[in-house]
Amino acid sequence: MMARERQIKSERILQGLGVSSGVAIGQAHVRESDGSEIIKYTIPATRIGSEISRLEEAINQARAAVRRSQRRAAQFSDEMAEDMELLFEVHLRILDEGATFTRNVENRIRKELVNVEYAVAEEVRTVAATFASMKDKHLAARAEDIREIGKRLMVFFTRQAQSVSVTHDKNAIIIADEMTPAEAISLNPDYVIGVATNYGGPESHTAIVTRAMGIPSVLGAKDITQHVRSGDTVIVDGKRGKIIINPSKATLRAYTKEQQSFLAENRRLSLLRDQLARTKDGTLINLLANIETEKECDAALNNGAEGVGLLRSEFLYMNRDDIPDEEEQTRFFTSIIKQMNGKPVTIRTLDVGGEKLSNSLVKQLKKAENPALGLRAIRFSLKFPELLEDQFCAILRASLEGEVRILLPMISSLEEIHAAREILRAAAKRLQKRGIGLPVKLPPVGVMIEVPAAAMAVDYLVNDCDFLSIGTNDLTMYTLAIDRGDQEVASLYNPLHPALLQMIRKAGDTGWHHGLSVAVCGEMAGNPDYSALLVGLGIYELSMSPLAVPRVKDCIRRIDTHDARRMVSRITEEARGSSQVRAILDEYNKKLFAE
Ligand code: PEP
Ligand code: MG
Repeated sequence: MMARERQIKSERILQGLGVSSGVAIGQAHVRESDGSEIIKYTIPATRIGSEISRLEEAINQARAAVRRSQRRAAQFSDEMAEDMELLFEVHLRILDEGATFTRNVENRIRKELVNVEYAVAEEVRTVAATFASMKDKHLAARAEDIREIGKRLMVFFTRQAQSVSVTHDKNAIIIADEMTPAEAISLNPDYVIGVATNYGGPESHTAIVTRAMGIPSVLGAKDITQHVRSGDTVIVDGKRGKIIINPSKATLRAYTKEQQSFLAENRRLSLLRDQLARTKDGTLINLLANIETEKECDAALNNGAEGVGLLRSEFLYMNRDDIPDEEEQTRFFTSIIKQMNGKPVTIRTLDVGGEKLSNSLVKQLKKAENPALGLRAIRFSLKFPELLEDQFCAILRASLEGEVRILLPMISSLEEIHAAREILRAAAKRLQKRGIGLPVKLPPVGVMIEVPAAAMAVDYLVNDCDFLSIGTNDLTMYTLAIDRGDQEVASLYNPLHPALLQMIRKAGDTGWHHGLSVAVCGEMAGNPDYSALLVGLGIYELSMSPLAVPRVKDCIRRIDTHDARRMVSRITEEARGSSQVRAILDEYNKKLFAE
């Protein structure tokens, strides 16, 4: 036993993909996947009370939801309303305080010391199985009722902002099989300080979200869930992609020191907030923020972003069962525009599909063989034009509050831009008919260059768009045929491939000749290793996670654009592959930071 304990507690290092820098030292919360995506973790006895309070709160909310459904049902025909009335009465009885179901869930929490979500799921599973096996048809049907109740309670738990296993524990490091972008966006950085998963790729949206939150993360660390137990001390080294389990005292000391110097460097960089991102020879580079939620406006402003270069509107559709209507979207966009206080806001229309899924759109987003090549982004919006029209109405209404640009994702042809503009005009007419004021001029419409077809046919696309934004994350994925979310091919995911550089240059030059602004809004823009390369390629607008702005600004202020262009010419002449590009770039960057 002693030997086993020693073995369990001895230091162990696992390697994955470092996707969000920084060092986190905390306690592991292992999320055990049971196939139903329910998180299980053990709680200390001191936390029983708070888990039971969560149960009570969830029950109250579920009761309120049943009552709402009851009121709605009253509007149906008499017979139907009667049937539904009976059904809702059964649901309310199950949810009654002190009813068997509630008591059993409480007992599970107390006796098994597990989190409330897991206790509910287990109770639902047990009771439903018992009912389902009954011969009596009516009793067997009760299995559905109990499952329905389970679903209602889960809606509450998943909506809790800090629901991913750590409602009350600070310094939690989430260890999971994988994490969806929707789950990542609901992490609460006040509690979750690190993430490590078995699966996940370098530029997955989960990686982007944890990076934006400043949560050190390592994805694609094979079998991590098998090596860590809840409660273990864990270090997440987001820069090197290492996870250290039960670190020795010496390792802890070394990482604590590294953590301190990381924070000190951030403090130094924060002093640049009010400085311009001007190169040494005086070229102004526009640094903008990529955001997903309203909360990130503060970070964008505090880190010195000149506006929002990419608002990923699809995140408003996640972690919920209903589709946000025009009113809600208007409020959402207006709040962001107001918070940005006169700085421009680029709103990208819905980019669902691929790895970005939304409960509210499950009906429309059928399971695809190849989701990344399926109904995603603009294709989805053009298939469901009523949703795009709602979104446009909301954007137009919000645009009365400040400067707005509309960005269309995953464009691959001119026809798609025409079709989207048509819907924009229809939205404007709809608002006019309702007597709602419109901006004097409709907002500029730009397109994402993130599909190789768009990059190659950019000469045609510029005829009907007002600006370009290069999405290097998808452009890399689709050009190299490498899934950005798959750790198995992560080493092949390389935006320095000459094919990519040619496409970026082509988009930049074409935009320039047509007088259009051209930004890069993929993760490349937020990585200072690539700043000189992008500037040398003629890109003067970069949009990135707010936290990346100071670091990129620091780099921009060291660059001379003539030198950067010369470095790019050298790449064009000498480099035959990405490793040669990397070598020339590294040599340049080394000098830049030595100065
Ligand atoms: C991109 O593809 O580079 C991009 C910015 O869009 P997203 O990461 O949201 O797909
Ligand atoms: Mg994209």
